Amino acid sequence: MAEKFDAIVVGAGVSGLAAAYTMAKAGLSVIVIERGQYPGSKNVMGGVLYRHMMDEIIPDFWRDAPLERPVVEQRFWFMGRESVVQTGYKGMEWAKPPYNNFTVFRGKFDQWFAKKCIEAGALIINETVVEECLIKDNKVVGVRTDRPDGDIYADVVVLADGVNSILARNLGFHREWRPNQVALAVMEVLKMPSERIEERFNLDKGMGATIEIFGDGTLGMIGTAFIYTNKEHISIGCGTLLSQIREKHIKPYELLEYLKQHPIVRPLIAGSEPCEYYAHLIPEGGYDSIPKLVGDGVLVVGDAAQFVNGIHREGSNLGMTSGHFAADTIIHAKKIGEYDERALSHYRDVLYNSFIIKDLKKYRNASHTMEANPKFFNHYIPASNKAMSEMFIVDGKSKADRQRLAFERITEGRSKLGLVSDMLKIWRAVK
Ligand SMILES: Cc1cc2nc3c(=O)[nH]c(=O)nc-3n(C[C@H](O)[C@H](O)[C@H](O)COP(=O)(O)OP(=O)(O)OC[C@H]3O[C@@H](n4cnc5c(N)ncnc54)[C@H](O)[C@@H]3O)c2cc1C
Repeated sequence: MAEKFDAIVVGAGVSGLAAAYTMAKAGLSVIVIERGQYPGSKNVMGGVLYRHMMDEIIPDFWRDAPLERPVVEQRFWFMGRESVVQTGYKGMEWAKPPYNNFTVFRGKFDQWFAKKCIEAGALIINETVVEECLIKDNKVVGVRTDRPDGDIYADVVVLADGVNSILARNLGFHREWRPNQVALAVMEVLKMPSERIEERFNLDKGMGATIEIFGDGTLGMIGTAFIYTNKEHISIGCGTLLSQIREKHIKPYELLEYLKQHPIVRPLIAGSEPCEYYAHLIPEGGYDSIPKLVGDGVLVVGDAAQFVNGIHREGSNLGMTSGHFAADTIIHAKKIGEYDERALSHYRDVLYNSFIIKDLKKYRNASHTMEANPKFFNHYIPASNKAMSEMFIVDGKSKADRQRLAFERITEGRSKLGLVSDMLKIWRAVK
């Protein structure tokens, strides 16, 4: 007779591991099935990991986990061809416990998290692909893997298989994502001595900074680029909607090379040595792309559920929290001995009352508005750079003349009414 567990988790990313840890800690028998060589081997993140959500799963995890740097500064760059308009926040309250967030390498962090799951009692099987969900009487009862005799049974299957979630698609929970529902992101890890990182980014020893870049960093396409500091490495990357990359006929690595050569970026990374290169999709469909989340004997969490807030660069925290919520629902389901859609729908109710769905709903129109108005990225950002340049030139013109010239740069080719209408659009999309 094939083995039966309380729960099977497909995917050992942060979402699946959060679900597995919570269930194993509560005494459930849990198996995690991961296709990669080890947890973290297939997982890509910039990556900023948010302390609060992880603390709710493993309190004070940061004392023990392999973290790179606590982030004390978040910068935002609106980049022109040879210039940048900047804003951001640096706060030394983030330099000490309990911290706000940290940079991490998922290859290390997920392995550590997986070890915690094993200590809590979960079983983790690597290098195994789940090919399909097993269905009996319209209920998911287990999974078929690519191992010989690879059928495994459970009361509940948690799909934490990431952005493509072929398993959820095969259950009819969502269609194939359209090119404007996912971003293609590429990133490199560059080696640099820690003292040089601290000098270049104006950081105290051990502290970290993040830079989010809009405008020329993605050649004016809808998306963001980023530079994050690790202990002895810089992570640099960029991502844009797949639809935009296709339209522009540009190759992702060309975009990253352009970013690395940009005159504002180049001095920050000069002398560094490329170590690793990654490419991965990011769910960008937001609220309107959330698939069916619950079925008889099955729940969907993390990227598989499209839980990424692209405006705030949050994904790992939405993933962990949804994994945690799914686990709590399953723990309760075990108590009452019911695993049908009605019993498991508690997961959906909790999600809809949480920051996850509230935030995705708040920004539901942001991506569509930007896609319909590419000028926010390819006109207004370069124009704001030219306007700032006009403001700061000292050449004998009066300040009133300088202000007029700056305003002309912003409105170039547009009426004042058009400008007001555009600003209203962007405000409505992110308010
Ligand atoms: C370039 C980039 C930068 C990012 N930066 C940030 C950031 O700074 N901060 C942040 O919070 N988020 C960031 N994100 C998003 C974040 O990485 C994701 O939201 C997060 O990894 C989602 O975790 P997950 O566990 O749901 O999915 P994943 O981490 O993708 O894990 C899914 C797992 O399932 C496994 N799997 C898939 N199919 C199968 C199968 N059939 N059988 C067995 N195993 C399977 C995969 O191998 C994988 O290990 C970034 C994403 C990218 C691509």
